[in-house]
Amino acid sequence: MPLPPPALRPSATPLNIYIRFQTPNLKSSPPIYNILGEVEKVILGKQDMQLERERKKNDDKYLKKDYKCELCVLGFDLKEIFKKHMKKHDKNKGAYVCEVCQCVYAKQRSLKKHYGVHYTR
Ligand SMILES: [Zn+2]
Ligand SMILES: [Zn+2]
Repeated sequence: MPLPPPALRPSATPLNIYIRFQTPNLKSSPPIYNILGEVEKVILGKQDMQLERERKKNDDKYLKKDYKCELCVLGFDLKEIFKKHMKKHDKNKGAYVCEVCQCVYAKQRSLKKHYGVHYTR
C-alpha cells in the first residue's frame, strides 16, 4: 500500500501541542501510530504531562547522573554539557519562558515548538 502524503497522516504538530498547553483540562490524545502500526507518539494532557515529569524524577537513569537540571528533569554526565544546558534558562536570552521548565526563548515560535518536548511521549 502506498504511503499517504504526510499532510494526511495525523501528527503531533507544534500547533496541536500548543492548543493542549492552553487548554489544561484536555485529556491525552489517543496514540498516534506510525506506518508500521507501532505507537509513535501520544500528545499528553496537562495532568499526564505532570505525571510524566514525576515519573522521570524517580527514574534511576536520572537519579544516577552527577549533574541534574531539576527544572527539565534532565541528567548529565559531564559538567561542561550541564553548564551549556543551564544557559537555556538564562532570563537574558529572551522574553518567552516555558512555564513547565523555565527554558527561555527569544521567539514565541521557538517556545511553541519547545512545548512538544513536554507534551509528547
Ligand atoms: Zn534545564
Ligand atoms: Zn519547557
